[in-house]
Amino acid sequence: MVKKEEGCSLRERLARLPAVDELLHEAARRGLLPGFPKTLVGEQLRARLAAVKEEIVRLGVETEVVFEPEKFWAAVESGLKEQMAWRLKPVVNATGVVIHTNLGRSRLSPAAIAQVAAVAAGYSNLEYDLENGYRSIRYANVEELLCRLSGAEAAVVVNNNAGAVLLALSALAAGREVVVSRGELVEIGGAFRIPEIVVQGGAMLCEVGATNRTHLADYEKAITEDTALLLKVHTSNYRISGFTNSPATRELVALGRARGIPVIEDLGSGNLIDLAACGLPGEPTVTEVIGSGVDLATFSGDKLLGGPQSGIVVGRRELVEKLKKHPLNRALRIDKMTLAALEATLKEFLDPRSALREIPTLRMLTRKPEELKKRARNLRRRLLRAGGNDPRLVMRVIPEASRAGGGALPMVELPTWVLQLRIEGQSVACLEKRLRSRRRPVIVRIVNDWLVFDPRTLESEDDAEIAAACRELLEL
Ligand SMILES: *Cc1c(COP(=O)(O)O)cnc(C)c1O
Repeated sequence: MVKKEEGCSLRERLARLPAVDELLHEAARRGLLPGFPKTLVGEQLRARLAAVKEEIVRLGVETEVVFEPEKFWAAVESGLKEQMAWRLKPVVNATGVVIHTNLGRSRLSPAAIAQVAAVAAGYSNLEYDLENGYRSIRYANVEELLCRLSGAEAAVVVNNNAGAVLLALSALAAGREVVVSRGELVEIGGAFRIPEIVVQGGAMLCEVGATNRTHLADYEKAITEDTALLLKVHTSNYRISGFTNSPATRELVALGRARGIPVIEDLGSGNLIDLAACGLPGEPTVTEVIGSGVDLATFSGDKLLGGPQSGIVVGRRELVEKLKKHPLNRALRIDKMTLAALEATLKEFLDPRSALREIPTLRMLTRKPEELKKRARNLRRRLLRAGGNDPRLVMRVIPEASRAGGGALPMVELPTWVLQLRIEGQSVACLEKRLRSRRRPVIVRIVNDWLVFDPRTLESEDDAEIAAACRELLEL
């Protein structure tokens, strides 16, 4: 921001720099004010001015330097733009991982988005009974739907499934023992580990069985006067294969009933429709789990349900009431936007065909390979055109497998077709980095020195963005 200047002392040079007040006037003249918040403009000006001073001092008297306004203002403006750029922003997910926790898990359905906007923009009957004019409880808005869809007597919704499990443990087992199979003491990612969450809930963990095999008799022997719950946990992100055993939910329920101990199942994903019928590996539905007699089941709202982040508990009224009344429920309560999105998402499940069509997570999970092949080929054609048939652009469409991801069928690989791309003379690592550094980042996988675009998680609108990104990559 400075250049050479003929003979004059360091002090004179510094004194000749514009004052902050003067710069603020100039900022207004240049439209930076009120274009940007005044505090940020002031901060930028002081920071850039300090940098100029430092440079003058660093170069010393021997080097002749002078203030260069245009470079200075360009730096100020780009600094302001960078500060005001969205930190949380939409990205294009070309990874093919449908329920990608790092990329926000589930995309909401159009109805859910519209309902969030409608409820967020104004007042609502969040906790208000419109019939009687009294205060009501917020869960009432979705409880009936959840009961209808799951076959349970009662339901409560909190922030996320980790919260739901913590709440259930705190409300039903504090100061007492929770029996869990050693094969189910899982870590789900982040800080959610079953042994730790049990302790956090104020309960004591009673581990039974072995890592690979746990029998009903193991649970039976572990039950004492202090036993509060039998907890069954979906192992979500890992599998033990080979010589394994774990009692079915039904068997645990029979044991729990006989001994008067509630059985809770942490389902993780909790699907409301039969995915096996859609060609996905069969996981029992929430309705089946409730039908098998568990006292409570917990699951996420943003995994296979395809709704907003939330933790849903369904089950026996008497137990759900205890959860509702526990102080932790207040700390974990969901907000009106979550409720709005959840209600809209759940309504889609009243007609499973509508759920499969309208809920992006389900739609993407059930895309057929033939459709994906067509999409990958369309994208390839589009990029060829965007690249003006640049010979450096090398692409091919091949069969591959996409991941469901996110604790929901995480081990499952879904057949897909992907577009592989590379640009001669450029490293794929560098290309990948440039794709994710864009204003609208494009997130891809790298496989064997190829950039991989999986159309499973792309909509046709994304093709234009990817084409623009591809042109940028060819420019250097
Ligand atoms: C994903 C998962 C959780 C955590 O759910 P969040 O909604 O992410 O809090 C807990 N238990 C199991 C089995 C899971 O798969």
